[in-house]
Amino acid sequence: MIVGILGGGQLARMLALAGYPLGIRCRCYDPSPEAPAGQVSPLTAARFDDLPALRRFARDVDVLTYDWENVPVDSVRAVGKLARACPNPDALARSQDRLREKSLFRALKIPTPEFHAVESERDLAAALGRIGAPGILKTRRLGYDGKGQARIASRRMAGAAWRELGGSPLIYEQFIRFTREVSLIGMRSKTGEIAFYPLAENVHVAGMLSYTRAPYSHSALQRAAERYVGRLLRELSYVGVLAVELFECQDHLLANEIAPRVHNSGHWSIEGAVTSQFESHLRAVAGLPLGETRTLGHSAMLNLIGELPEPRELLAVPDAHLHVYGKAPRPGRKVGHVTLRAGSPEELWARLSELPAFFRREEFCLPALAPSPLSN
Ligand code: AMP
Repeated sequence: MIVGILGGGQLARMLALAGYPLGIRCRCYDPSPEAPAGQVSPLTAARFDDLPALRRFARDVDVLTYDWENVPVDSVRAVGKLARACPNPDALARSQDRLREKSLFRALKIPTPEFHAVESERDLAAALGRIGAPGILKTRRLGYDGKGQARIASRRMAGAAWRELGGSPLIYEQFIRFTREVSLIGMRSKTGEIAFYPLAENVHVAGMLSYTRAPYSHSALQRAAERYVGRLLRELSYVGVLAVELFECQDHLLANEIAPRVHNSGHWSIEGAVTSQFESHLRAVAGLPLGETRTLGHSAMLNLIGELPEPRELLAVPDAHLHVYGKAPRPGRKVGHVTLRAGSPEELWARLSELPAFFRREEFCLPALAPSPLSN
C-alpha cells in the first residue's frame, strides 16, 4: 500500500513515520524541495497546479491524502481518476472556506458562533448591526494560526478592519468569551466505522497553538462533541481523521473550525494513546480496521516554536518525548514538539515543573498548566 500525501510538512513526516511498522509506504508532494517529510519519505517537489507532475505522482500511489488543507481542490479533482482521495475533495472544499464550514455546522445543527458573510463595507455594517461588537472579521480562505483576522472591539474599529482585510471574501463572527478551547479528533473507516479520541484542551498564544492537554475529561461535553463530529463524518462520507476545534462556553460547545487531516492538537496521541492519530489516519485511508483510541495516562504536548531546546536536559525528565521536524529554525515556525506523559494530572504537573529553563518562557504559559482544571 502506497499513500501519497499532498503537502510535505511535519504532519506528512509523522504520517510517513507511522506507516513504516504497518508496511504502509508514504510518498509526499510539496512545492518545496526542502519539505521536512522529504527526509523520511520520497518527495516530489512540484507545484500543486503542475498537473502533469501531479498526474505522475497520483499514478504511482494507491490513495491520496493531505498534510495541508489548502491544497487546490481542482488539482485533487483533476487526478481523481488516477487515485482516490481520502478524505474526498468535497470535504476538503468545505474546510477551505470558513463560510461554507460554518453553514455546514448550522445545517447539521452543530452550535457555532453567530456569523455573517462580508463582501463589502456595507455588508460589514449589516453584520455589526445584526451581531454587534465585539466580533472578529476573518478572511474566508487561507487563514491559519490567527492570520487573516482582525478583532473589532467596537463599531468604530470597523473601518480599520475593513481596510486591513477588505478585498477578499470575509466572514464576521461574534466574539466568544470562552472558558477554554478544546478539540475532538474523530475518524471514519471505509466501511463506516467511527471512533473518537477524548477531548483535548488547547491553549493558543497569539493565535498559535502553544500546548495541548489530554484527556480533558468531561463526559457531557465529550458526548456532545462526539455527536457533532459524528454528524460531520457521516454527512461528508468522510474517510480518515477529522479534527474539530470548539469553544467551551458556559457548559456547552460551539464549533469553530474543522481540519480535514491529522491535527496539531492530536500529537499527544503518539505516546498518549494506544493508537496515534497518524496510525489511525493511515489505517482509515488504507481500508484497515481502526485502532484503539484509549489513552495511556495523562499527556501534555508543547509546541516548539522558532527554536529547539537542548535535548540532554529535556530528555532527563521522565516520560518526556521529543519530536524534531527537521525544519530550519525561524521565528514563529513550528520546529518540533515535546510530549510529557504521566499517570495522573498531579504527576503531569510535577513533570512539567521539572522541564528545563527553556520552557519557563511566556509563550508556554506553564502556570496555566497547573492541575486543577485537568482533574474535573
Ligand atoms: P481560527 O483561525 O478560527 O482557529 O482562530 C484562531 C484563534 O483565534 C482561535 O483558536 C481562538 O483563540 C481565536 N478565535 C477565533 N474565532 C473566535 C471567536 N469567534 N471568538 C473568540 N475567539 C476566537
